[in-house]
Amino acid sequence: MFKKLFSNTKEEEIAKLKLEMATLNEEIVKMNEEKNGHLKMIQDHMNKPPFWQVSKEELAKMTTDELTNLSSVLTKKSSEITKIISERNLCIVCQERSRNTLFSPCLHYNCCNTCANTLIKCPTCRNLRFMEKE
Ligand SMILES: [Zn+2]
Ligand SMILES: [Zn+2]
Repeated sequence: MFKKLFSNTKEEEIAKLKLEMATLNEEIVKMNEEKNGHLKMIQDHMNKPPFWQVSKEELAKMTTDELTNLSSVLTKKSSEITKIISERNLCIVCQERSRNTLFSPCLHYNCCNTCANTLIKCPTCRNLRFMEKE
């Protein structure tokens, strides 16, 4: 009686585990499908040319709203780029005037004439002295 009950329980347990395994396998398949879907989305996104390479024909297919949005995004990006370029050329000491002095012998180009004249060391590498570029 005990043995029968025991073996029944064991079989039931095995059946239960098998069912759980099947459920887990289904979940794995589902997760894999989801993963592949995401991978495809990423690949599609990466294969898409960047918006500044969109052809005139593609642009012509866009709605006026889309074009207006794109235009304002481009204007914003353009001024960001201009700002970064001009900041790159600013004196790292005063950050007001343009760089125009070349330090020697390190050849760092990071200062305006006015700031460089007050320094005895290059502000980037701390090497002594500087010379005028212009
Ligand atoms: Zn300066
Ligand atoms: Zn230097």
